[in-house]
Amino acid sequence: MLKIELVKGDITKIKADVMVNAANSSLLGGGGVDGAIHRAGGKQILDECIEIRNRQGKCKTGEAVVTTAGNLPAKYVIHTVGPVWNGNEEKCSELLANCYKNSLKLAESLDLKTIAFPNISTGIYRFPKELAGNIAVDEVKNFKSDIIEKVIFVCFDDENEEIYKKLLQ
Ligand code: ADP
Repeated sequence: MLKIELVKGDITKIKADVMVNAANSSLLGGGGVDGAIHRAGGKQILDECIEIRNRQGKCKTGEAVVTTAGNLPAKYVIHTVGPVWNGNEEKCSELLANCYKNSLKLAESLDLKTIAFPNISTGIYRFPKELAGNIAVDEVKNFKSDIIEKVIFVCFDDENEEIYKKLLQ
């Protein structure tokens, strides 16, 4: 059974095999959690993101790519691009679900046991937090894996922490 944990704080301080980044499609860094991961992880992460871009172009919304974790306490960083909330609940929900699904699949393909997720899309991308939390928890609970043992939801703001506490109790 996949274990689910809730942690309040900064994802760059969390020990896990892989840490997920809420990236943007350019993969070249941004604000919020993306900025924090690149700052704490160092230049190696950006260098690999640039290599990926040169190879495959931008990362599409809902998809995920993997790089080294640089100086972070993880083996890898999975960069996934969340949807920008535009009011189209059905489409945005599907794309956000894909972020979690594709990140979990990628972690599994790398034989990783523990994965930490931020609350993708709920910052600058303005996805309603309650709906995003429901989608994140559903996707993780529905993901059957013999490889991944633990998923850590890292909530940075109080509102998300409260939402996840309720969802996970
Ligand atoms: P997006 O563009 O996908 O909305 P943001 O980084 O703006 O990405 O926000 C996503 C979530 O990450 C928000 O809930 C925000 O509170 C949270 N966040 C910001 N900084 C950190 C951090 N250092 N660690 C974990 N979560 C963070």
